[in-house]
Amino acid sequence: MTVIAIDGPAASGKSSVARQLAERLGCVHVNSGALYRAVTWAVLNAGINPGDETAVAGFVHRLPVTMTASGGGAWIRVDGHDPEPYLRDQQVNAHVSTVSSYPEVRVLLTAILRGMGEGGDLVMEGRDIGSVVFPETPYKLYIDAQEEVRMARRAAQGEADSVRQRDKADSSRGSAPLQVPEGAVVIDNSELSAEETYAAVCAALAARGLAGL
Ligand code: C5P
Repeated sequence: MTVIAIDGPAASGKSSVARQLAERLGCVHVNSGALYRAVTWAVLNAGINPGDETAVAGFVHRLPVTMTASGGGAWIRVDGHDPEPYLRDQQVNAHVSTVSSYPEVRVLLTAILRGMGEGGDLVMEGRDIGSVVFPETPYKLYIDAQEEVRMARRAAQGEADSVRQRDKADSSRGSAPLQVPEGAVVIDNSELSAEETYAAVCAALAARGLAGL
């Protein structure tokens, strides 16, 4: 099994790179943030206070969440529902970092993400993929960009998203914080186009011996 792990802060351009790579290599693209968002949506939907760690952990423990690979993508179901239309809701943006900071939630979702590797090769993006979920993979990338550039990108997408607050919370939490994983190639794309970023990523992976690019 080959896993390409792509980590980095919010709006750094991880998703477009991950999508293109998975398409090129013919493997499954997994956006792990979508799983954290789906669970946060379920917590809010159930009327649970996202700041109540015990209540959230107990709820997520009982929540039937699945992720299934199909057609090159990864499809999430929460208690039989498709959460996709709600994943970028303002309320989800506002609370996802809090829910993601709870160790019990991370243990449950990390197990689901690792399980995706049983189905074949993956490109997985997130915050702790190279450091915690698949630390043994040789193909680790950390995509970064200056904060102002990332905030402008999110605003251009028409989304209300507190990128700065999420990054701060994600980087400072005790459990699996956002960090450059050991051995990762760091690519700062503040001044690169999407095409240039993709080319830099392919060059880095080819230099590590990844075939097929
Ligand atoms: O990637 P995206 O911005 O959609 O992720 C939403 C949030 O999910 C992040 O801000 C972070 O709090 C959480 N997350 C995480 N670990 C991951 C992926 C996402 O904690 N591997």
